[in-house]
Amino acid sequence: MKSKSDWCNLIDYDKDGEKKILAAALYRFNEIPFADALTYIKSLKKKERAELADTVLKRLGKFDVPLRELEYSNYTFDIVMDQGAYAEFKRHRMMTQTPQRLTTHLGYTIPLLVTEAGFGSKYEAAMEAAIKMYEKLYAFNPDVAQYIVPNGFNRRVLAQFNLREAFAFCQLRTAANAHFSIRRVAQKMYEDIARVHPLLAKYMKLHNETWQGVEENYFTKV
Ligand SMILES: Cc1cc2nc3c(=O)[nH]c(=O)nc-3n(C[C@H](O)[C@H](O)[C@H](O)COP(=O)(O)OP(=O)(O)OC[C@H]3O[C@@H](n4cnc5c(N)ncnc54)[C@H](O)[C@@H]3O)c2cc1C
Repeated sequence: MKSKSDWCNLIDYDKDGEKKILAAALYRFNEIPFADALTYIKSLKKKERAELADTVLKRLGKFDVPLRELEYSNYTFDIVMDQGAYAEFKRHRMMTQTPQRLTTHLGYTIPLLVTEAGFGSKYEAAMEAAIKMYEKLYAFNPDVAQYIVPNGFNRRVLAQFNLREAFAFCQLRTAANAHFSIRRVAQKMYEDIARVHPLLAKYMKLHNETWQGVEENYFTKV
């Protein structure tokens, strides 16, 4: 299966997020206005900012609470994930989440195990039957029609959260005992955050896996 990345997009983030977090950490232990702390952080060389980041986050253990100053940088994602993953995603209370109505319009995932067990065609027939029933119910009432949609169908969600929540979410939901469907989401979010904010994201302690690896090893179709 060839992985595509357009199902999970980082559509907005604080361009100065890392600098704001480091400035807030300085602010906490000094007696200066925030604007001065930020000016100072901006004046530092990249290497000096990296040393400061080390001082602030290097000793953070797996079970330590990430410091509150990580809350000063925000990220917005537009994501398509299956309803099974969404059932877990929505438990994360420190995010602002805006799900669209659950439909059959974004297709469904096929877990590899279903195919390997020889139930691929039966699974697909059941999903196609659900699509037909969904359309009938939709004509009656789109809200009611959601109840017939199985967990393998995809839905679209807008989510905004800060870097402290990103640490909590990505570390918990990439763990080996987390469901593969949410591991894929958490790994992709981590990858996108690490691309724009590598200085601080590198302190997240993630299970050694990639979202492409999850797709390869656990799905026939996403
Ligand atoms: C592997 C795994 C298995 C699970 N199994 C079960 C199960 O069997 N049954 C079940 O019912 N549930 C299960 N859960 C779900 C779990 O109980 C939680 O519902 C889920 O992890 C979300 O809650 P949370 O507190 O972890 O995260 P969130 O609600 O996202 O909160 C995250 C963090 O918020 C921090 N915080 C406080 N203020 C802020 C702020 N302003 N900004 C950012 N962060 C802040 C807190 O310190 C916390 O660490 C499981 C979860 C995982 C990861």
